[in-house]
Amino acid sequence: MKIAIVGGGFMGLVLAQKISSTTNATVKVLEQGSLPGGLSTYHNYGAFTWDKFYHVITPTDTDLIDFIDEIGLADQLQWRRSLTGYYENKRFHSISSSKEFLMFPLLGLVDKMRLGYTIFRGSRINDWKSLEKIHVTDWLIKLGGKRTYEKFWAPMLQAKLGENHKKVSAVFIWTYIKRLFKARSSAAQKEHMAYVNGGYKTIFDRLEQNLKQSGSDVMLNTEVQHISPSPEGGINITHNGATEHFDKVIFTSPLNVMEKVTAPQLYDISKSTKPIDYLGVICLILVTKKTLTPFYVLNIGDNDTPFTGVIGMSSLVDLEETANQHVTYFPKYISQDDELWSKSDEEITATFLKGVKYLYPDFNEADMISSHVHRAFKVQPMQVLNYSEIVPKVNTPHPDFYVLNTSQFVSESVNNNSVVTHVEKFVKGFKGDLQNNTTAN
Ligand SMILES: Cc1cc2nc3c(=O)[nH]c(=O)nc-3n(C[C@H](O)[C@H](O)[C@H](O)COP(=O)(O)OP(=O)(O)OC[C@H]3O[C@@H](n4cnc5c(N)ncnc54)[C@H](O)[C@@H]3O)c2cc1C
Repeated sequence: MKIAIVGGGFMGLVLAQKISSTTNATVKVLEQGSLPGGLSTYHNYGAFTWDKFYHVITPTDTDLIDFIDEIGLADQLQWRRSLTGYYENKRFHSISSSKEFLMFPLLGLVDKMRLGYTIFRGSRINDWKSLEKIHVTDWLIKLGGKRTYEKFWAPMLQAKLGENHKKVSAVFIWTYIKRLFKARSSAAQKEHMAYVNGGYKTIFDRLEQNLKQSGSDVMLNTEVQHISPSPEGGINITHNGATEHFDKVIFTSPLNVMEKVTAPQLYDISKSTKPIDYLGVICLILVTKKTLTPFYVLNIGDNDTPFTGVIGMSSLVDLEETANQHVTYFPKYISQDDELWSKSDEEITATFLKGVKYLYPDFNEADMISSHVHRAFKVQPMQVLNYSEIVPKVNTPHPDFYVLNTSQFVSESVNNNSVVTHVEKFVKGFKGDLQNNTTAN
């Protein structure tokens, strides 16, 4: 059986690894980019290579951790103590342990108790369906009060979703509470996070090597232009100007691509679901001689910064990984129609650098080794009210065409642990179909 996977992001490659290691099918991953990995890919920063966007592994990422073990990289996983900060009114506060959390100076005792109650309640809710019906703001205010919302939650939502946070349901913050607050190890109640030596490049190198060995293939620089049903069964894919036949096709790229390249006889997305909005991200990355922040994540409760958070990668990752240079990411999550997309990299760098100097008045541009602007247009599907009712199903009207992408994460945030969870569920559910009849090419 010959299977095509459209999209060589983390989803496509984990899927290829799982199918090729558990069935006798041959897999071809078709990826338009020149590197594997999509949003999780890596970048050459000059003296070192590291993740293009910031990625971290939390103790609750059990499926991801098992997967890393499965591909023989468990010994490459490095756990470190991580710090979370909060900036407001020209002051930085650490909220990295339960004690610091309780001492958070911007909230009074009653508000802190309400915050604690929200987190406690949130972490114990299992029925996310009821949370889909209420806006995140209404839910947080109902549980924790307006002051707690404004001082604590709103900046966090702003950091993740920008102004669009007003549209999402309570499921969004519930998944966040479940994932991140459990990152505190129960013994010390302190945050711990992990990375893989060499970053995600190590994972992608291993996956490419495994796939090659099993007779499967990752085809880079291969843009899928058209997917249509084949009259004799199976699916035809047009890429690089030629048409190739596959017995099965699994589509992992974002939905706007699917709408563009998939024949309506296969899956008429406009008739099957309501439009799903994605948020994108624009991120400035500074490589510096000195450290900028002790925090892995800094939430910003201040509207005067052009970015929505600060990720101090070098506060987590050993400096040998990055040639003794310090790496800091300054992301801004924005909607598809935001005017920031039209700005050049130079304009974005200039604007964001003003924000860096505002936040860190001691920052000296002479300490800057390089700066980079990375953009990703489709990152986070907006989990609006009753989101689970509008997402596409894995099964499509055509028996040889499947959809498996992050838009289907109805009760999780977009993260690589959920990617592994969904892939495993898919392969378990459809294993029989993925290794049945053999069709001539
Ligand atoms: C700023 C940022 C920070 C993040 N931090 C974390 C984190 O700390 N921890 C974590 O677990 N996750 C994190 N994530 C999420 C993680 O990156 C995603 O879960 C993951 O990358 C999703 O992978 P995917 O394969 O589903 O999608 P994508 O990575 O979007 O892959 C889709 C692929 O399809 C390809 N494609 C599109 N059109 C075509 C076409 N026509 N033909 C062929 N190929 C095509 C694209 O090039 C892409 O490679 C972060 C993401 C971002 C953006």
